[in-house]
Amino acid sequence: MTAMDVTVLTDAARASRGTPPAAGALIDGRAIAAKLRDRVRGAAKLLATRDGFVPGLAVVVVGHNPASEVYVAAKKKMAAEAGIRSTDHRVPASASETDLLDLIHGLNEDPRVHGILVQLPLPPQIDGHAVIAAIDPGKDVDGFHPLNIGRIASGLPALAPCTPLACIELAKSAHPSLAGLDALVIGRSAIVGKPLAQLLLAEDATVTIAHSKTRDLPAAARRADLLFVAVGRAEFVSGDWIKPGATVIDVGIHRVTRGGRSRIIGDVTFEEARKVAAAITPVPGGVGPVTIACLLANTLKAACALAGLPQPQA
Ligand code: NAD
Repeated sequence: MTAMDVTVLTDAARASRGTPPAAGALIDGRAIAAKLRDRVRGAAKLLATRDGFVPGLAVVVVGHNPASEVYVAAKKKMAAEAGIRSTDHRVPASASETDLLDLIHGLNEDPRVHGILVQLPLPPQIDGHAVIAAIDPGKDVDGFHPLNIGRIASGLPALAPCTPLACIELAKSAHPSLAGLDALVIGRSAIVGKPLAQLLLAEDATVTIAHSKTRDLPAAARRADLLFVAVGRAEFVSGDWIKPGATVIDVGIHRVTRGGRSRIIGDVTFEEARKVAAAITPVPGGVGPVTIACLLANTLKAACALAGLPQPQA
């Protein structure tokens, strides 16, 4: 299952011939994201001219978290460029769970809102599960609602979480078909690892999920044609864990200071891994931008479904 019917290839000519990418090829997440956003923009434009209809995304931010602010600003800018109306709903960090639930109920009822995104994490007095469960599943563009998770696990159409969708897009840029490939997902979080495993099964990959209790993780990694790493530990996977010729999708994001310079790195030791892998996502510029593009695609999809309109193909 993909956010839209989009497959953007790092090296389209190679992939269309079924030839594996050249060793160490970079999977260009920024380019893949730009193509997906273009398709969303084209479809939104058609919706506006055909139906006079503008998809709306509500972004709920609780408190002030500098890292979240960067993402919220990026999402807002990209939504506007794609022809999606986004609105911010800011709630103080001291807000109660009831305050937040009241806001969500209002957004559920608002006909101009087709997608609701609650920026995580939430402060400790608020039960994140209760908040996500309160979102209308048809507006759950983050794909975290239990109904959407259950539908995906059942192989039914649903709004799928954006980061796993992005991982699938990126993997398919190197392998147009994932059928039969051995995929290892390291990390079993509810927002990345588990839904990613379901989406990979839907693509007919043979899927293993590894986690903190997995025995001999390097050996499991060395068997994987597709290695997805969502552990949340900087440079956790080293080059000697990678099967030669594998495709590596690095979900991790870590800000580190090295040699007095601040930079962003992933869960994979990039330079080592690149020498062994056939294709690899960089951090930054891999999963992150495609995740935001998938959010826009999900908003378009939700808007069309709620309005009973066919989704225009741009
Ligand atoms: P999480 O902390 O919820 O889950 C981490 C998972 O890793 C857990 O399931 C745990 O079992 C597993 N793990 C921990 N230590 C391990 C070990 N030693 N061996 C094997 N498995 C181990 O994290 P998450 O929310 O899934 O995020 C993972 C990473 O992805 C983080 O760096 C996060 O910042 C990043 N992330 C990026 C995006 C994006 O858009 N690029 C989106 C979400 C998360």
